[in-house]
Parts: sequence; C-alpha cells; structure tokens
Amino acid sequence: MHADVTKEFVYMHKVFAVGRDQRLHDNPRLIEACRTAGTLLPVYDLDPSISYGPHRIAFLLDSLRAMQLQLRSRGSDLLLRVQAPSINDTRWYSASPTLYDAADLSFNLPALPEVFTSFRRLLEKHAVPVQIPIDAPAVLPPLPDGIVCPAIPSPAQLGYDVIACDARSAFPFTEQHWRAGEESAREHLREYLTSHTVDSYKATRNGLIGTSFSSKFSPWLALGNISARTITTALWDYEEEHGANDGTYWLWFELVWRDFFAFRAQQRGLTPCDTLERAKVHPQFLAWTSGTTGAAFVDAAMKELLLTGWLSNRMRQIAASYLINELQLPWEWGEAWFAMQLIDYDPASNEGNWRYIAGEGADPRGGRRFSIDHQQKTYDPNSEYIAYWR
Ligand code: FAD
Repeated sequence: MHADVTKEFVYMHKVFAVGRDQRLHDNPRLIEACRTAGTLLPVYDLDPSISYGPHRIAFLLDSLRAMQLQLRSRGSDLLLRVQAPSINDTRWYSASPTLYDAADLSFNLPALPEVFTSFRRLLEKHAVPVQIPIDAPAVLPPLPDGIVCPAIPSPAQLGYDVIACDARSAFPFTEQHWRAGEESAREHLREYLTSHTVDSYKATRNGLIGTSFSSKFSPWLALGNISARTITTALWDYEEEHGANDGTYWLWFELVWRDFFAFRAQQRGLTPCDTLERAKVHPQFLAWTSGTTGAAFVDAAMKELLLTGWLSNRMRQIAASYLINELQLPWEWGEAWFAMQLIDYDPASNEGNWRYIAGEGADPRGGRRFSIDHQQKTYDPNSEYIAYWR
C-alpha cells in the first residue's frame, strides 16, 4: 500500500532538470517527462561553485530566459535555483547530447576507437543512422500547486561581473540574430542553409574575423538550444535538394569530432577543471589570459576571448599550443580558463581538444606544436587580425 502511494506521487509530481537541453524540439527527455508526469516543474540549478566569466554567464542566462518564455507560452515555467545539481542530475549539466545514439553504433562504447579517423570511418562504413528529430510538446503538464517562478535574473542581479560583449565579436550574442535560445538557433540554421553559406564552409572555416567564416553553431549546441541531429538532418535535406559538396561533408565531419569527444567522455569520464589557485599567481599565465605575452598573434586571440567569450577554432589551437609548448604551463590551466570564458563551453570538447594538443588524448602524432610565425603567415599574412584586436 505504502509503495503504491509513493509510486503515484512520483508519477504525479516530477522535477525536470533542464541541464544542457535548453530547447523544446527534439528533446526526448522532456517528452518522456511530459508523458509520465501529472505536474512538472522544469528547473535549472546554477551551481554557485562554478566560476563563470561575464560572457558565459550572460549567454547562459539569456538562454534560460528564452526557454522560460517558451515554457510559459505552453502552460509551464522554469525555476532557476542557485544550488548545485543533485547527484542524479549532474550528468544533464555536463554530458553533451550526441548526434549519433550510442545504441546505434556498430560497437559498444568500451570499444570506441582511440583515433578519430577510425571512429569516423566506422560510422561511414556501417552507415550508422541518425535518429529523426522529434517534435516539441504542444502543451506541458501544469506546475505543481503554489509554485511561482520569478523571471530569470540578470548576471548583475546574481552578483556576477558584467562586461558588454565587444561589437567586433564573431558571435555578437547581444544582437538579435545571435541571441541565445532555441528560436535564434533554428533561425540561424535556416538562414545558414538558405543563403548557401554552408557551401563555402570548407574553404572558409579557418577564417578569423567576422560572423560567417564557420557555421557558428557551437554556443547554441553547447546549451542544447538546438540538437546536432536537427542540424544534420537539415543538412542532409539540403544535400538532397542541392547536392552534396565539400562544405556539407566537412560540416558533418566536424560534428562527428564533437561526438567523438562526447563518447570518449562517456567512456572514460572527465577530469574536473583546475581551480586555477596556483595559476592565478603565475605571471606568464596572467600574461596569457590578458593578452599581454608579447606574441602579438596569440595576444590578439586572448583579447578576443576576454572581450567576447568566443574564439575561432584556429585561434583556439594556436593559443593552446602557445600555453603548452612555448610557456610550458599545464594544459589544465588553459582548459580551465577556456571553460570559464567560452560561451560555447562544452566539457567533453574542451577537455578533448586540450588533451589532443597536449598529446594526451586521441592523437596518433603525440601532440600538436604550432609554429606561431608560420600560423600567422598562413592565416593572417597582413596582420589584419592582430590590428583588429589591438
Ligand atoms: P564549425 O567549424 O562550424 O564546426 C561545426 C560544429 O562542429 C561546431 O559547432 C562544433 O560543435 C563541432 N566542432 C568543430 N570543431 C570541433 C572540434 N575540434 N572539437 C569538437 N567539436 C568540434 N568546441 C566547443 O563547442 N566547446 C568548447 O569548449 C571547445 N573548446 C575547445 C578548446 C580548444 C583548445 C580547441 C582547439 C577547440 C575547442 N572547441 C570547442 C572546438 C572548436 O574550436 C569549436 O567547436 C568551433 O570553433 C566552434 O565554432 P563553429 O561552431 O563555427 O564551428
């Protein structure tokens, strides 16, 4: 008798940890929660022990605000709680929802290849399917009685430092098109494809300045404003209509990198970010973070990161290599700094890429040392990028 009453309570009243699934479309966890709940309370637990840089927290709160409005329009709401997520919920705040379902892979996760190329080839060889994205719920179960969800506060209201995103940003997230949230993410996908910008993706993806050299999906993907399978199925529809090309293939290829790091993290776990206690008093680390090392190309990147919370893949690689190989500082310090600053912070991709450059992860070549001079000659021959962030 007692067990039945408990079961009914669990059935009726559910708390849904939004975590990094901040969208209504293609959100299987949300659909499942709606199916089995009498009342549903969507919550986001903002862990006060995490060090958020000003741009990362601003983008996150914007995304939660957008989701709150969507939920309100469907009879629900979103409650922000300033507390660490419960042990049961932590995975929703750290794991990256993948493009491929682990259950569809041709191998079990413990047999995940060590090297990216082998992983990608297996996907292609077995034509692993991508599950079709599912619709958003039309309505949501009501909130439990008596629950009132205040509007999502601003960073200042929560006591965080506020620095406006610099207008030169390659992802100017205070402008309408680049706002956090599901609507902007879906509109960006639509526009990215209808404008055929994707066709030039492979040729332009190593660009450094402007909003259109790469796809710019990462901040929305990082918070789950859009799912990788929504992007990929739209990409494949585009290929059906207009034909596949280098651009469409390479965009998929990069999304597969994201899955590779996500599956590695699922398989091996992630190391918690360094606290930066020792790093904070290290003069060379401070010079790196503030863009004052004296290496102009690297300094431009670090200023861009500080002023905008975003950085191109090329400059992330160069800045990381400089910290590891030239300054000879622990990669974990750089990883923690990126985690704090990036609006697209993704634990698995960040740790995976830092390890890769440090030669500790999925790299058959044992690390990446970038010649800063050579990189500048190749990617910024007229020093435009350096001048842009001076
Ligand atoms: P595009 O070039 O348009 O690629 C499309 C998508 O593919 C990206 O949005 C991303 O989801 C995925 N992707 C592309 N390159 C990579 C890659 N190397 N690893 C994993 N996924 C990739 N990406 C993050 O999303 N979050 C991070 O915290 C992060 N930290 C990084 C740290 C370092 C040191 C380096 C070198 C790279 C890091 N990346 C990270 C990967 C990559 O730099 C960004 O995903 C990319 O620059 C985002 O821009 P975009 O969306 O325009 O990418």
